[in-house]
Amino acid sequence: MPPPSISKSTFLMGRQCSKLLWFRYNAKDQIPAPDEALQAVFDQGTEVGILAQQLFPGGVVIAPGIIDPQEVIAQTQKVILSRKPLYEAAFSFHGGYARVDILVPVAGNAWDLVEVKSTTQLKEEVHLPDVAFQAFVLAGAGVKLRKCFLAHINNEFVRHGPIDPQKFFTLEDVTQPVSMMTGDIEEQIDAMQRVIGAKSQPDIQIGPHCDNPYTCALHEHCWSFLPDASVLTLYRGGSKGFSLLKRGIQKLADIPADVPLTDNQAIQRATLLAGQPHIDGPALTAFLSQLEYPISYLDFETLGTAIPLFDDSSPYQQIPFQFSLHIVRQPGANPEHFSFLADGTGDPRPDFMRRLCEKLPTIGSVVTYNASFEIGRLKQCCEVLPEFKPWFRTVEPRVVDLLQPFRGFRYYHPQQNGTASMKAVLPALTGQGYDNLAIQEGGAASREYLRVTYGEVTTAERRRVRQDLEEYCGLDTLGMIQIVDQLKRFAK
Ligand code: SF4
Repeated sequence: MPPPSISKSTFLMGRQCSKLLWFRYNAKDQIPAPDEALQAVFDQGTEVGILAQQLFPGGVVIAPGIIDPQEVIAQTQKVILSRKPLYEAAFSFHGGYARVDILVPVAGNAWDLVEVKSTTQLKEEVHLPDVAFQAFVLAGAGVKLRKCFLAHINNEFVRHGPIDPQKFFTLEDVTQPVSMMTGDIEEQIDAMQRVIGAKSQPDIQIGPHCDNPYTCALHEHCWSFLPDASVLTLYRGGSKGFSLLKRGIQKLADIPADVPLTDNQAIQRATLLAGQPHIDGPALTAFLSQLEYPISYLDFETLGTAIPLFDDSSPYQQIPFQFSLHIVRQPGANPEHFSFLADGTGDPRPDFMRRLCEKLPTIGSVVTYNASFEIGRLKQCCEVLPEFKPWFRTVEPRVVDLLQPFRGFRYYHPQQNGTASMKAVLPALTGQGYDNLAIQEGGAASREYLRVTYGEVTTAERRRVRQDLEEYCGLDTLGMIQIVDQLKRFAK
């Protein structure tokens, strides 16, 4: 039987990890389907790819919806004679199968290859081998290539009206670096074929490559042997955790005393051994002393699409569409809750800013978790809505970042597992978590908002999701109140 052909995506998989490649061909059913977050990334990539076709209009989409390689190749051969731009044309050579985003006819019976990426810059270590693989296959299949380009999103693009693809994309000529790589492709394909044909999976240990350049689909499978509180949860552990694993040390609690740890990592290990949180009382007191009543607890939810939805916004710019605000007017008072969730398909920023400006007290502290995010969003909103600049100038100095004491390990609970994120801190401190909520993290909030706002859904479904969004965002600010209350107790 001839060896199976290697597509450009499996070629990239093989470059990341030969074990992943082996599974792809020998135990595909064990590779989980992409989750919603990853699927959303793929969907955005598809949208960007379709937009890029307008850079070279008047072309032909080859075999839309067909995945059988032989059929796509046969259709390509029929259409290629027309000398029109080709979208998704396919070729094979030496066991490699390449479906090219865009092929552009140029003088001398040659073609330019254009690979489309939905990133805002060229990532040499991933994008160049990708294009080199395609160039190798096309050259072998008899296609005369003049130049190779990478079309990625222009990171300076700002939308004004309908998207102009010529301004939205940046075309980078990668002919020269790609030509330096094509010589190695044949050998790499041969090596991958040997991996695929092996009777058993290669013995590859987990390592930094599991998340670089992409988080591997087999992550859960390969990492499942790790105990809770493993050495890989070391705070900013870098390669230290993997070195410890190589020495046979899996548990954080088993790290020998002679292994140098940073102060925070040492706190992590000590709290685990003691089964007690670390509390720096004076530092917590100093942190809490900044808080002035009324205290406003504030959290935003945002969306950020590759192709900007609104005028005066850029690719992937985080546009706020929701806030939750809990106000505690004086010590011991019940919190008052105000919220905003944009309605309709227009730009949510003007109403968002108006409502926030209306409800946020003009005095007292404004507490957020990871304040640079909220401050950054407000600054960006003020750029397009300058009438809010004077108001923002009165807000910014009052912002207190609740992440600070956790990032600085002024308080650390072993259940945080080496992270200071609110999703870890809230349950560790209060026992309250997000498990019972339909929406449990910001990415899902954004996806769900986009789905029910711009997609085809029933009124009942839209209403249900909007309720879920209110609950999720509301818990973030309520959670901050609980965290501050707990810190007060510890500080005492
Ligand atoms: S999780 Fe890591 S070791 Fe396992 S297949 Fe993926 S990259 Fe390879």
